[in-house]
Amino acid sequence: MKHLLSIEDLSREEIDSILDTAVSMQDVQHRDVKKLPTLRGRTIINFFFEDSTRTRSSFELAGKWMSADTINLSGKGSSLSKGESLRDTVLTVDAMGVDLIVIRHPASGAPKQVAEWVNCSIVNAGDGTHEHPSQALLDAYTLRREFGDLQGRHVAIVGDLTHSRVLRSNLLCLRKLGARITLVAPPTLMPSGIASWSERDGFATSHDLDAVLPTVDVVMMLRVQRERMAGGYFPTAREYAVTYGLSPRRLDLLPDHAVITHPGPMNRGLEISADAADAVRSRILDQVSAGVAVRMSILYHLLAGEGSAT
Ligand code: ASP
Repeated sequence: MKHLLSIEDLSREEIDSILDTAVSMQDVQHRDVKKLPTLRGRTIINFFFEDSTRTRSSFELAGKWMSADTINLSGKGSSLSKGESLRDTVLTVDAMGVDLIVIRHPASGAPKQVAEWVNCSIVNAGDGTHEHPSQALLDAYTLRREFGDLQGRHVAIVGDLTHSRVLRSNLLCLRKLGARITLVAPPTLMPSGIASWSERDGFATSHDLDAVLPTVDVVMMLRVQRERMAGGYFPTAREYAVTYGLSPRRLDLLPDHAVITHPGPMNRGLEISADAADAVRSRILDQVSAGVAVRMSILYHLLAGEGSAT
């Protein structure tokens, strides 16, 4: 593997290999001294053109815990704010001899374009509404720890599907792992053309959260992405919370073994109630913890593993 741009590019074997390696990486997280020599002498740049808490800090920790030199750049603090083009900026960084750029960008497809310009490896840390592959991998890791094999497990993905790159990566990843998926959203937040899409890709859609919840193993709540909404997608926040929020009443509809996930950041009181976010069956902090291990594994596969760029 040279780049991680999309789940679409990964085979089932590559997904399994990343998740398996992440298991041993998670041990490092629990040690007093969190340091492996694996990426000593390698340099990683985290280049974030959109805000991030979890993804940026976990890629930085992942690199540091594997002894790589890591640098953070943001759109604002770089020469992009002086008018330099994205191409000139990334060519500049590449010319310094970095080994890998982790990039988050508001334009769908930007990481793929950057990968065509530079020599180093590229990791897509979220591009517009397109994909967020490391999130889907850490979600799969979290669910695999819970259920073992995901074959036939029923995952409901609920909320603002139109604007979610997490949805797109998870659909591809969960399908490759054999899970059954139901997408739940109001008609205004279902991606356009979903009907033909779902037929082709073998997943169901519903507007009725109450009917779906009793049948799931996992309910994956997605954030309402107000920063990507130009118009009104639902009448009021209160109405959205009542019809599509994971409220305390809806927790009672879940089977006993079912778990709750959310990629974060959460809008508590909108798509997810505090009761649901903090429930015993919530795996939201496990997802955060898995994020570091999975990102260590991704860096390992790209920079040190068999078939890596070097
Ligand atoms: N953190 C995830 C992302 O960057 C999910 C979200 O923002 O809602 O796509």
